[in-house]
Amino acid sequence: MHRDKNIVASDHYRRQNWGMRTLTCSLLLLIPGFGCGSPGTLAPKNAVQILCTTEMLAGPMRTLCGPHADVTSLMGAGVDPHLYKPSPRDVQRILDADLVLFHGHHLEGRMGEILGGHGGEHREASNRRFIAICERIDDQRLIRSSAGTIDPHLWMDISLWQDVIEQMELVLSELDPDHREYFRSAAATLDEELALLDEQVMQMLAMIPEERRILVTAHDAFGYFGRRYRLEVMGIQGISTESEASIDRVNTLVATLSERNVPAVFVESTVPERNIRALIEGCSSLGHSLEIGGVLFSDAPGPVGSGAARWRDMVLHDARVISEALR
Ligand SMILES: [Zn+2]
Repeated sequence: MHRDKNIVASDHYRRQNWGMRTLTCSLLLLIPGFGCGSPGTLAPKNAVQILCTTEMLAGPMRTLCGPHADVTSLMGAGVDPHLYKPSPRDVQRILDADLVLFHGHHLEGRMGEILGGHGGEHREASNRRFIAICERIDDQRLIRSSAGTIDPHLWMDISLWQDVIEQMELVLSELDPDHREYFRSAAATLDEELALLDEQVMQMLAMIPEERRILVTAHDAFGYFGRRYRLEVMGIQGISTESEASIDRVNTLVATLSERNVPAVFVESTVPERNIRALIEGCSSLGHSLEIGGVLFSDAPGPVGSGAARWRDMVLHDARVISEALR
């Protein structure tokens, strides 16, 4: 594999540390629940190491890379990226990776210091690359809150995430030009599959009657989803779970849900249910029966076996749950 000359500098570091990593992996494998790398990874041990912050990035990245890189993610099922703080082991994984791919736009709110915060792309002194891939998308296409903050939940609109995946392909082709054709072909196949998935989600949600097209969730993760698939979206918390919900916000939502006779609201797998419960109680006191329509996977996929363990299955799962509850 031809390697980007800027990355070769880290090879020496990695070779030196390979023995220690192998030993550490061996020790960790003795502990239930621990493993090194992704199960089923085909990449050879000297393959380019790509570390993504979330599975929303890592899933498509694995598809694009095939056997030509070892792609892992920091955050697994049920982990809230807004609140995630890296462990010492995560910091070591960040230091070991040739490429660290993150969302940016402050999605990884508490990892800012390590990832370099806002700024698109930078290199560490040791030449490891850090890329905020979503910051490569034109701001004009992104949603801003009233406070001017960019909504970082781009993966909830499949068509927009297709454009992010196109950016991933460009990054890979620059990183490993010898396999450019492989990446291009994998990206084209994935793009076709995602166009069909986008259409499927569109049709599923089109079945909700006009007056019921209101999606209320624990936090504002569905702005892009609502824009793409024509739902009015209201979150109890804002676009980050770092800020708490206000009583005023809960009261406003209770009034809206009751007035418009909305049948269901939704829990998110990464956010505690207490605010959703407050809505249900508030509506009940006004004589409106509000139900939990189901659990949505917004900021992290579901566990293996949930049917939503990959990014694309998360979105499909959410569309199915929302469509069934609001129809
Ligand atoms: Zn979020």
